Formats: sequence, structure tokens, C-alpha cells
Amino acid sequence: LEEKYFAVDLSVALVHHPVLNKHGDTIASALTNLDLHDIARSSKTYGVNTFYVVTPLGDQQVLAKRIIDHWLDGFGGKYNPHRKEAVELIKVMGSLKAVVDDIRQRREKHPKMVGTSAKNVPGSIGYDKLKSLLFDGDPYLLLFGTAWGLSDELISQVDYFLGPISGISGYNHLSVRSASAIILDRLLGRND
Ligand code: SAM
Repeated sequence: LEEKYFAVDLSVALVHHPVLNKHGDTIASALTNLDLHDIARSSKTYGVNTFYVVTPLGDQQVLAKRIIDHWLDGFGGKYNPHRKEAVELIKVMGSLKAVVDDIRQRREKHPKMVGTSAKNVPGSIGYDKLKSLLFDGDPYLLLFGTAWGLSDELISQVDYFLGPISGISGYNHLSVRSASAIILDRLLGRND
């Protein structure tokens, strides 16, 4: 592995609040079991430091922890150790502020926040640009939305926004699991 990759400090946050519902209201969405498993596996594959699952809802935090514990300590961990290795990257947090504090505690630096969306957001940067920034060694936090995506207020607070992944059919409804895997590959996939 090229030495430059060792400097990369990228974390991922799957945001369940603040996100939008169909009507454009800010809500807290429910967890999806598959999101936790699949994004944990993608995170592990591409060397992500931590996969944060962000939800302020107590019952959803309990659910997330139950899923994680099953794969870390329960029967699941012995049955499928590869899944265990991926699930170990997950941290459940009540807010994005708690995520930022967690990274600051580890690195003594505020992470650069990077938003993602299926929509075009003015001022977005390209994948090559972010890829080159990642090698500067600073902590970066990549934000993925659930429901109808990250709230506008949150979008206005990020340091960078990535342009949308685009296919060729005009159908623009990737799941967050697929979108995050594609984006991680564009940022940290090796073609050699
Ligand atoms: N219910 C959906 C699901 O099954 O995942 C959630 C859709 S949610 C809006 C999808 C999230 O994935 C977005 O907030 C964004 O983070 C990411 N995403 C989806 N499509 C994308 C695209 N074309 N480009 C970049 N990110 C995308």
C-alpha cells in the first residue's frame, strides 16, 4: 500500500437526524438494520476510522446497540468473524456534535465535514478534489443522509459538499448503502 494512504483519517456518519421527510420537514428517521451491516463492511474495506450511527432517539440507540452486541459478543460474532470485524467500527451517537467531540478527543482537531446528496448543491467539489484533500492527514467526516436526505440547515454547516453520483438513466434513487460504497470507492479505491 502506498505510504500516502497511511495519513488518511476518514470517518463516516450515517445521519438519522436532522434529515428531511417527504414533505421537507426536519425529522429523526428510523434505523435500517441492513444500513448498519453494509456500511460497516464498506467502511472496513476502505480503511474508514469509525462508522458513526447518529440518532437522538433512545429506542433507536438501544436497537442499534442490540444489533452491534449480537455481532460482537453474541452467537453472531463466533458464527461470522468477518462481520464482527466490520461491526467493531460502529459507534452509536446521539448527535453530530457528539461525533465531532469524539473525533476532537482522538485527534485534538476539528474534523472537516463533507456532505453528500443525490441533489446538486451549489459549490460542490469533485471526487478527485476531495481525494487529494484526504491525504493532508486532517480528520474528515463524511455525512450520509437517511429518509429524504440531510437537512438544509446541516448542509449549510459543512466544510465541503460532494457532487452527486450520476448514472445514465435519469433514475436518481440510490440507497444510502449503495451510494456510500460507490463514494468510498471513488475516494479510497485502488485501481492498481
Ligand atoms: N431510504 C433511502 C435508502 O434506502 O437508503 C435513503 C435515501 S437517502 C436520501 C440516501 C443518501 O445516500 C443521501 O442522503 C446521500 O447521503 C446518499 N446518496 C444517495 N444518492 C446519492 C447520489 N446520487 N450521490 C451522492 N450521494 C447519494
